[in-house]
Amino acid sequence: MLPDAFSIQHTFISTSSSSHTPHLIVGAGLAGCLLAWRLQQAGQHFLLLGSTAMPAAFKVAAGVINPVTGRWMTKTWNFDQLLPEAQATYQALEQQFGIQVFHRIPEVRFCQNADDIKRLGRRLRNPRYHNVLSRYFAPGEAAPGFNDPHGSFGIEQAAYIELPKLVTHLRTAFAQQGLFRDETFHHSALQPTTDGWQYQDLYATKVIFCEGAAAMHNPWFPNIALQPAKGETLLCHSPTLQLPHKLYHHKKWLLPYPDGSFRVGATYDEADLSETPTAPRKAELLAATHAALKESHRIEITTHLAGVRPSTRDSRPIIGAHPSQAGLYLLNGLGSKGASTAPAMSQQLVNHLLTHAPIDTEVDLARLDTNACA
Ligand SMILES: Cc1cc2nc3c(=O)[nH]c(=O)nc-3n(C[C@H](O)[C@H](O)[C@H](O)COP(=O)(O)OP(=O)(O)OC[C@H]3O[C@@H](n4cnc5c(N)ncnc54)[C@H](O)[C@@H]3O)c2cc1C
Repeated sequence: MLPDAFSIQHTFISTSSSSHTPHLIVGAGLAGCLLAWRLQQAGQHFLLLGSTAMPAAFKVAAGVINPVTGRWMTKTWNFDQLLPEAQATYQALEQQFGIQVFHRIPEVRFCQNADDIKRLGRRLRNPRYHNVLSRYFAPGEAAPGFNDPHGSFGIEQAAYIELPKLVTHLRTAFAQQGLFRDETFHHSALQPTTDGWQYQDLYATKVIFCEGAAAMHNPWFPNIALQPAKGETLLCHSPTLQLPHKLYHHKKWLLPYPDGSFRVGATYDEADLSETPTAPRKAELLAATHAALKESHRIEITTHLAGVRPSTRDSRPIIGAHPSQAGLYLLNGLGSKGASTAPAMSQQLVNHLLTHAPIDTEVDLARLDTNACA
């Protein structure tokens, strides 16, 4: 028997076999909240269990959706499919909550050397890049306040999502409906039952882990090819620097906000996986900012944040069912691209949970070797 107070608040979690398929979601970050929202949209019951006090990557992320990334200026994986789904998802959420979180922003990326210019030329001739690249700009043409001896180029269809605002709205809405429990999940308390899983006072048919980089410590998925990477960012203000509304990508990126503040990011570190901001990384970000700007500006740091990206060895998300423990699922591996991938990955997993729709082999947990799961 469940305690009275609990059974009133969460009548959908039941030990009896019913027509419902109760879902316990572990981790209330970007992935967990979007998954919960999608289940709710599909008329399904769930309980979202996550800690607001624990570290989370979404709290640190700029939420940028960048169509062209990396040294080789390659089009982001599946960009043409992911962007429309992301945009539709965030706009539906904006409408539901009466907020704005999805912001289109023109992007300028600076060429770092002559090779970059050649590479850009090749990309501009490639039809696959026609919807994401505009053109080459000569030095001084696109962003006069920046040092750009090798010129720059425009990237189309970039955007940024205010992830903390979005996740906070979702958590609050679920909490008001009695669907969110703000607490730390302890894996050792999860036990199989004859028809599902028991966690303390909860019984659920399916448990879906959306723990971000903390999945490193999940004993049910001990070797899931995570390759977490710490990142640090600075929120800044400058009395002398007023930047037009563009995302600037020099060696680091610089994202101006409507209130005049701007964010600089991000560092990348696979060795130190602590969640603590560090002085050397702050210095690295500040130095990169000063080097990118033509004139000397007084830059005041208002917030210095650190977090760990749930990256994977093959740079692809990992979603799907545990190979041998019926009822356990994973939604993880969103890496440094959660803003663009979480909407599509949560949808795929919901389709799989509700209709057994096959998961794209490129992101399916089943692609990992058999020792990935316990
Ligand atoms: C510095 C930095 C910059 C980034 N910039 C961008 C960017 O510009 N664009 C972009 O798309 N992405 C960016 N990212 C990546 C983005 O933040 C992630 O892809 C995204 O947050 C992953 O979502 P998630 O829900 O899987 O993980 P998270 O956002 O980390 O959420 C996981 C949640 O689960 C909770 N949790 C875990 N274990 C437990 C437990 N045992 N009990 C209770 N709760 C638990 C955590 O506390 C957290 O709230 C950045 C990340 C970092 C660190």
